[in-house]
Amino acid sequence: MGGTFDPVHLGHLIAAEEARWRLDLSRVLFVPAGQPWLKASRALSPAEDRRQMVRLAIAGRAGFELSAVEMDRPGPTYTVETVSRIQKELGPQAELFFILGCDSLQALPDWMAPEQLIAACKLVAVPRAHCPQPDVASLEAKIPGLSKSLISIPMPLIDISSTDIRRRVAAGESIKYLVPEAVERYIRERRLYIG
Ligand code: ATP
Ligand code: MG
Repeated sequence: MGGTFDPVHLGHLIAAEEARWRLDLSRVLFVPAGQPWLKASRALSPAEDRRQMVRLAIAGRAGFELSAVEMDRPGPTYTVETVSRIQKELGPQAELFFILGCDSLQALPDWMAPEQLIAACKLVAVPRAHCPQPDVASLEAKIPGLSKSLISIPMPLIDISSTDIRRRVAAGESIKYLVPEAVERYIRERRLYIG
């Protein structure tokens, strides 16, 4: 599961858990983006903070792991390259799935080499609040083969976003129960998202 995770929140964890048990995945790798080119307009929190928050969020959770494969590389990162690196690391017998929310799925035609991505892994799409059902026919028209690679799974709609959490922290509002407690503490201690 890729993302900027700025910060990681319960929506990410619930999506990952739904994919894990429904598809019987042996593990879920959380892959924080280094410098995502699609979000180049916003200053991201330092990679080390985003990585540390993921570490805290999944601590002690067997089957959830942090992968620093994107963060350890300079420059923009592309999911298609990340998946291929992970495949090389794990070997040809590993079957890879990329978990994403429906907002990311809708944006897939803008990603780097989406045809290559869907050939390299299955896409596991989860629904997201404020995001209409993905229009698979029009995605298929833009990315032939997409519907064969796509596994849509249900999950409770979780109306949480990192954008809203950052806004709340800046406004002095509560973020309790939106992020794991250890992540909330980390945000406070490091004074992230203030001003
Ligand atoms: P931001 O508001 O900064 O974009 P975000 O909450 O969308 O943050 P990302 O790191 O951009 O989080 O998302 C990583 C992946 O998790 C994306 O595929 C996104 O669609 C998915 N995702 C994030 N939040 C949810 C949620 N509440 N429900 C389902 N999927 C989610
Ligand atoms: Mg997002």
